[in-house]
Amino acid sequence: MKITIYDGATTIGGNKIYVEEREKGVFLDFGMNFAKHGQYYDEFLRERSSRGIYDAVQLGIIPRLNIYREDLVPSDLDASAFPRPDVSAVFLSHAHLDHCGCIGYLDEGIAIAATATTLAILKALRDTLKASPGMEAPYFARKYPKDDGRTLEASRSKKEPYACRKMLCTEKISESLLQFLCQSQRTKEIETPECGYVEELGLPFSVEAFELDHSIYGACGFLIEGDIALAYTGDFRMHGRGAEKTRRFLREAKKASVLIIEGTRAGEEEGISEDNVFSNCLAVAEEAKGLVIADFSPRNFERLEMFGEIAKKIGRELVVTAKDAYMLKALECADGTDRMKDKRVYFELKAQRDGWEKYVLELYGDKIADPAEISRAPENFILCFSYYDVKHLLDIMPESGTYIYSSSEAHSEEEQFDFLRLHNWLKLFNFDVYGFRVEGGGVFFEKGFHASGHASSKDLIEAIEIVDPDVIIPVHTERAEWFVEHFGKRVKMIREGDSLVI
Ligand SMILES: [Zn+2]
Repeated sequence: MKITIYDGATTIGGNKIYVEEREKGVFLDFGMNFAKHGQYYDEFLRERSSRGIYDAVQLGIIPRLNIYREDLVPSDLDASAFPRPDVSAVFLSHAHLDHCGCIGYLDEGIAIAATATTLAILKALRDTLKASPGMEAPYFARKYPKDDGRTLEASRSKKEPYACRKMLCTEKISESLLQFLCQSQRTKEIETPECGYVEELGLPFSVEAFELDHSIYGACGFLIEGDIALAYTGDFRMHGRGAEKTRRFLREAKKASVLIIEGTRAGEEEGISEDNVFSNCLAVAEEAKGLVIADFSPRNFERLEMFGEIAKKIGRELVVTAKDAYMLKALECADGTDRMKDKRVYFELKAQRDGWEKYVLELYGDKIADPAEISRAPENFILCFSYYDVKHLLDIMPESGTYIYSSSEAHSEEEQFDFLRLHNWLKLFNFDVYGFRVEGGGVFFEKGFHASGHASSKDLIEAIEIVDPDVIIPVHTERAEWFVEHFGKRVKMIREGDSLVI
């Protein structure tokens, strides 16, 4: 078995790991490397989509391989000169962008294999996000060369449906998920996707998915068995409510002699657990008088449901954004659980609505929470808002309230500025703020209101001890040397682009 780490060995995210045996192989994740991306781009300085893969290849955001969609190769790039590994599928561990954000560049013959929940989230992301080539994973508008072929233009013809990538499910796929995957929220139809199961790939090795606990539903680790057995953790933790699932995967992974493991928090102490977060947020929400706002990362559905529990306990209603409601519907298509039944939907004042917003309105028209209703009785609600939503407080005009920041700390200077701006909004409406504070122009984060999606040092050690592999390959980390300090020669540090044959 040969393992090549094209990306994500020494950065947090951007995993692109190629595993092959007898010249047939699969990628484990094909994510966006935000560290690399951020070196060249920001919110306004962006990729030029009319140049297809050109920019991403030249900047090293995707590896120089001949594995990309043909319609994205402009005439001034000779992709045929790059090596062409035989890639049957990309096995996606979970739907965070640093793991899935470059799948859209891949040749359409390369299937996406993932859990039902991950496939549903991926489709919902594509429906609701502004299109960027890397995220056009489940469906895309085929591009055609313009003029001399250096620029490419997407077909706008309604007669030409969106092309679809083959999707393979690691578990039983429901009729409602199949329907959701073909349902278009845009003006063009979506070609009916070919859906099937991983076994159909006819690979010389088997790949099995095991659900595990991370800060997004549907996350899994993979166990690959061929000449040797290899386990890949994706992102995981052991301090959430799904910790037992992680342990089950690790016990299965005992078969593996090679463990590819994430190390986001290598060298970091044990932190706050999801249960701690629950009791701290509950205590604050119980005491709150006016409107309560809960701010957590998009697609952290577990946290969303936790605030739902809190709302129920203290006799309030949880109001989610339209995008959250659409995502929760997607999850329902995958696993049959109606998570919207006791929730309301905030409908922002807007002149034009996208297709997916109209669909939310159709589905949940009777659950709409209008800003005027919240304004009349703010003490009845917990509102799920974050930084980009605070502008809508101008339609609610609360006199005071409580803001619980339940997400990760700012990492860059730019992110710090966002918190200063958020602070101004909250000051304007006299909010008590928990989870962060601004003092002397600096931003400080208060522990206890957020739990990480990643394993602490202690849990990484426990995970490795359970699996007890011969070879440990750290990825998704800036501290690969921490693994060497603890596990010595068993650790193989593979640099980006390098391979290991076992
Ligand atoms: Zn993740």
